[in-house]
Amino acid sequence: MEVRAHAKLNLTLDVLGRRPDGYHDLRMVMQSVALADVLTLEESGDGELRVRTNLHFLPNNEKNLAAQAALRWWEARGQVPRGLEITIEKSVPVCAGMAGGSSDAAAVLRALNELEGAGLSPAQLARIGERVGSDVPYCVTGGTALAEGRGEVLTPLPPLPPCWVVLCKPEFSISTPALFAKIDSVKLRCRPDTQGVIAALEAQDLVGVARRMYNVFEDALPERQRSRVNDIKNVLIQCGALGASMSGTGPTAFGLFDSEALAREAQERLTGVGGEVFLTRTV
Ligand code: ATP
Repeated sequence: MEVRAHAKLNLTLDVLGRRPDGYHDLRMVMQSVALADVLTLEESGDGELRVRTNLHFLPNNEKNLAAQAALRWWEARGQVPRGLEITIEKSVPVCAGMAGGSSDAAAVLRALNELEGAGLSPAQLARIGERVGSDVPYCVTGGTALAEGRGEVLTPLPPLPPCWVVLCKPEFSISTPALFAKIDSVKLRCRPDTQGVIAALEAQDLVGVARRMYNVFEDALPERQRSRVNDIKNVLIQCGALGASMSGTGPTAFGLFDSEALAREAQERLTGVGGEVFLTRTV
């Protein structure tokens, strides 16, 4: 079975505070984009669980989030693990704030649910996915959604009006745990207007959403990295983006466009500057 694992963007990301269990309470408006990894699941004759990817540095064993999802699946179903070979064609940048690994895990859960004819609901798949990672429950269904708690408390939102997205992952990566550790001591310049974004989605007001996009983790980035992210956002805005922000704990920055021509211009300008640049659409 072949299945797609879409990347996500954060239209907003707010950190509400640290919880007694050490996790942070978050409030985020999430959006899927067409950019996706493609996974192929095949029965393996020798009974082993294996992962192959086109990126040599990703784990090919149980540490791969796709394999973890399969293990959690069989655990939840009370079954012994079966022989399975998962091949992942990665297109979503790694360590980019785009939930690439979580989306692969969610895709495996959707595929196994179908292959085994288990008939679990998206909510049931999300509960299994939660044990793999906080973004996995959202990735089970994707689309436009409000994610709260650690990211696992989901409320579907009206879909973002279709638009073009240009995104750029600079050449460095961000340590998500390090940035979460830092966020408590950072003086936040401002907070996203989450309610305003939700109201704009309800009104199908793309400009209203784009203008309100904000991610508090931008304030927690080390100076040089923040300045690189700001440079990307400035190019996007100069090229006509309706708004620009950073996704997850970064460092990917993206802009929303209502014109394909302007989006292509932004893609070309950013491609000259470095990093991985993509032109995609919301889904
Ligand atoms: P998030 O937005 O959820 O914080 P991210 O985009 O920052 O995620 P990912 O690319 O999902 O980060 O994953 C980063 C880490 O997970 C890397 O250390 C990578 O080695 C590991 N990993 C395990 N399995 C996968 C996978 N299938 N795809 C990508 N990364 C994986």
